Amino acid sequence: MSTVVKFWGVRGSIPTPGPTTVEYGGNTSCIEVRADGQIIILDAGTGIRLLGQRLVEEFKTQPIDATLLLTHTHWDHIQGLPFFMPVYEPQNHLRILGYEGARHGLEVVLAGQMESPFFPIGLREVPANVRIEELKEMDFHIGPVRVQAAFANHPGICVGYRLFTSNGSIAFFPDNESFPVSAAPPGAAATADSRAPGSAQHQNRKMIEFLRGTDVLIMDAMYDVQEYKEHTGWGHGCLDAVVALALQAEVGALYLFHHDPDHDDARVSQMLAHARKLVAAQKGKLQVEAAREGATVELPRQC
Ligand SMILES: [Zn+2]
Ligand SMILES: [Zn+2]
Repeated sequence: MSTVVKFWGVRGSIPTPGPTTVEYGGNTSCIEVRADGQIIILDAGTGIRLLGQRLVEEFKTQPIDATLLLTHTHWDHIQGLPFFMPVYEPQNHLRILGYEGARHGLEVVLAGQMESPFFPIGLREVPANVRIEELKEMDFHIGPVRVQAAFANHPGICVGYRLFTSNGSIAFFPDNESFPVSAAPPGAAATADSRAPGSAQHQNRKMIEFLRGTDVLIMDAMYDVQEYKEHTGWGHGCLDAVVALALQAEVGALYLFHHDPDHDDARVSQMLAHARKLVAAQKGKLQVEAAREGATVELPRQC
């Protein structure tokens, strides 16, 4: 059985319905991974509503057993959860894993958005068996799928995940500001500064090692170079830096993710074309796509 990755929400920050976003989609962060008998959901942005409908259609009255990995609790990554239909059927099991909410525990944060001023049904009242667990280990298993977590460079606490399936690995960093690193020639001796644990170079090397050889990398590439200059420190990716990172980490395919709500379809396509030019200029083998709602990716990759 192959591993299948499906994009249910690819937009960053806020949903963007309307005629200018129909091609790439307007729902926020949600990805489904079917691998080795597991249903693994990455983030619960508004895209999870459609995934829930599809799961209910597929399983009918049979129990659904799924694991939801949250990267963090910003709205665009959790807001679809109250509309995920499988939690309203008692036969279903949903295990939710994430790093603790920045100030309160994960369960308090998730239940908070379903308290009565915001939503009519409390998270603890839903009929399904919902288990919320704080991520204690950065290396664990979901069935046979090994999962590694790493901290992202994003305000508050935010992690990214790498899933090792029997058909290849998938890494997911929906919100991450890649560390800008001055282009030292490959093999150049590291300076004392660049070896310092907190330095951009050190963080960048750690990320490259974490991602090395990933088959499918889904990563925040919200801004172009010009926009990034105006949003440095906001915790989101600069396209050129993300492409450079993917090339250095010898990634197979890069999916640009967390599309800016102000970018229409034409703008996203333009950024994709720019990313492909960067790869061609380096004579790289990296395949680049812009994540598109409804699209699927199969592993092993057909090169
Ligand atoms: Zn986000
Ligand atoms: Zn965020």
